[in-house]
Amino acid sequence: MTELKVHSIFPSFNGEVCHAGQGSSAIFVRLAGCNLAAAGHPCLWCDTPDAQTDWHSLSLPIGEVLNTVLDLGEGIRNVTITGGEPLAQDGTLVLVKSLLAVDKHVSIETNGTLSIAPYAFRCKDLHFVMDYKPPSAGEAVFDSFLEENLSYLGEDDFVKIVVLTDQDLFSLSEMLMKARVNTKAKIAVGVPFNNPVLAKAIVDEVIQWRLDVTLNFQLHKIITPTIEGAVQGAYN
Ligand code: SF4
Repeated sequence: MTELKVHSIFPSFNGEVCHAGQGSSAIFVRLAGCNLAAAGHPCLWCDTPDAQTDWHSLSLPIGEVLNTVLDLGEGIRNVTITGGEPLAQDGTLVLVKSLLAVDKHVSIETNGTLSIAPYAFRCKDLHFVMDYKPPSAGEAVFDSFLEENLSYLGEDDFVKIVVLTDQDLFSLSEMLMKARVNTKAKIAVGVPFNNPVLAKAIVDEVIQWRLDVTLNFQLHKIITPTIEGAVQGAYN
């Protein structure tokens, strides 16, 4: 039976852009393991380092993951699958199909370095939020972005560009241009909540150049939930 390495499953809300909307209730399935970390090149500013490996995870049959989501999420339709890197596990596709079969609305957060082609069957209840990591994440991370992924995204998906340094801000226009010509997805630009000077510079850039983007504020950082690994099943 196919299993998934699961870091945690918990009810929360979408703190970042996604089709369901920032602030929408969702059951989160945080899968363990990351292809970038496994290759020795984790993002320099990874915000979930304990999901980079399976040290803080349990291997669960997919049926058990599904039942946990259903138990925790009675009345909540949105399920956000995140990581780690969700696409690094083959079983993720099986889980996604199982969730869609019970009428859940699924959002997958991916680092954009693994092919989403197997998910190209698409349907109205499956959406992506794909990171397009800037140079500050590390050269190897920046270079490993799979540009062909952009063409699989639909107009209700998001490409999320994070800006964490002045250098990233210089790269923003070029990254935007590259993304724009290759995707129908909406483009979001992350605004660092803990750096008001850079946040203002990003907003100024967006206004000055009339950039057609969505600003992404990480609402969940305001309440800073602590979700520990090994499948807590609860919001702490
Ligand atoms: S892809 Fe995600 S989990 Fe992996 S190192 Fe980057 S931020 Fe961390």
